[in-house]
Amino acid sequence: MTTWNFAAGPAMLPPPVLERAAAELADWHGTGVSVLEMSHRGREFTGIAERAEARLRELAAVPDDYRVLFLQGGATLQFAAVPLNLLPPGGRAGYVHSGAWAKKAIEEARRYGEVEVVWDGADSGYTTLPRELDPPPGLAYLHVTSNETIGGVQWQELPETEAPLVADMSSDVLSRPLDVSRFGLIYAGAQKNLGPAGLTVVIVRDELLGRARPETPTAVDYRAQADAGSMLNTPPTFAIYVAGLVFDWLAELGGLEAVGARNAGKAALLYGAIDGSGFYESPVDPAVRSAMNVPFRLADRGLEPAFLAEAADAGLRELKGHRSVGGMRASIYNAMPLEGVQALVAFMREFERRHG
Ligand SMILES: *Cc1c(COP(=O)(O)O)cnc(C)c1O
Repeated sequence: MTTWNFAAGPAMLPPPVLERAAAELADWHGTGVSVLEMSHRGREFTGIAERAEARLRELAAVPDDYRVLFLQGGATLQFAAVPLNLLPPGGRAGYVHSGAWAKKAIEEARRYGEVEVVWDGADSGYTTLPRELDPPPGLAYLHVTSNETIGGVQWQELPETEAPLVADMSSDVLSRPLDVSRFGLIYAGAQKNLGPAGLTVVIVRDELLGRARPETPTAVDYRAQADAGSMLNTPPTFAIYVAGLVFDWLAELGGLEAVGARNAGKAALLYGAIDGSGFYESPVDPAVRSAMNVPFRLADRGLEPAFLAEAADAGLRELKGHRSVGGMRASIYNAMPLEGVQALVAFMREFERRHG
């Protein structure tokens, strides 16, 4: 039986990436050592890291005046790193409160300075996003969460802003075409769309470097990390290597246009199955439904435990919704092929036939 892993993160990796990493695990390219054993300052590993960065730059067409940083600490550390680096004492940062991850970013930023919530989705239970934003002038930056992994809302078009736009893209980075030049800073924990847990990618415009408050830990200071080529201390070497393989794989798929079309097709199939039946329902505003994380319910809530149990028996893993939302959630990141979504939809139809 084929297993399909719909986990929200750490999530499935592309099978060709796992196969390649396995084949190279004990002896990387005839060196007689594993990437796991290499010095991060040695020629082999610096080559691996440089190549990964170059591939990411090609894929996302990262302009020359942006730095790519390979860090640790997850998106959660970035919730603090962003205000420490970009919010001067006495300044104000704008945040869009779009759901559970935005809330965490806001709470952390409030420890370091004044936060203005420029939009709050509470009225809708965080099932929609603003059509328009009117942030006040003078913000140090405006923070958005491009995809709410738990609530399943995703910005379709990010706002035009005067202040530098900062985006938590942990759960949708490289899942569709991306115009980096519109952002001051992008950050993403790797474990959803980029690779293994342990790596955090930051893409930051040069002019935003060098503004960190004096008390900022050195490893959290973007300038210090950029100057050290992300090798201020030991970086997450194996995670960088695997992310590099993922970037190669995305390039082989045809780049972000092709990846975006593939993801849109997967999402359309799954939402079609949900909407096309009175048996399933989606809580999310159709205009902003996520192509990455698809929460859904059964009209008859009492059948949900049976759905999850039978799905697991059919090899469809990790479909349980986040504890704060309930029901089901299918995470269908880049690595999930159309076939996996087809298997889920076939199971849904079959479950409805038996229980509907
Ligand atoms: C998973 C996730 C986070 C938290 O990431 P960590 O790497 O665990 O800190 C933050 N934001 C979003 C949107 C996420 O999906």
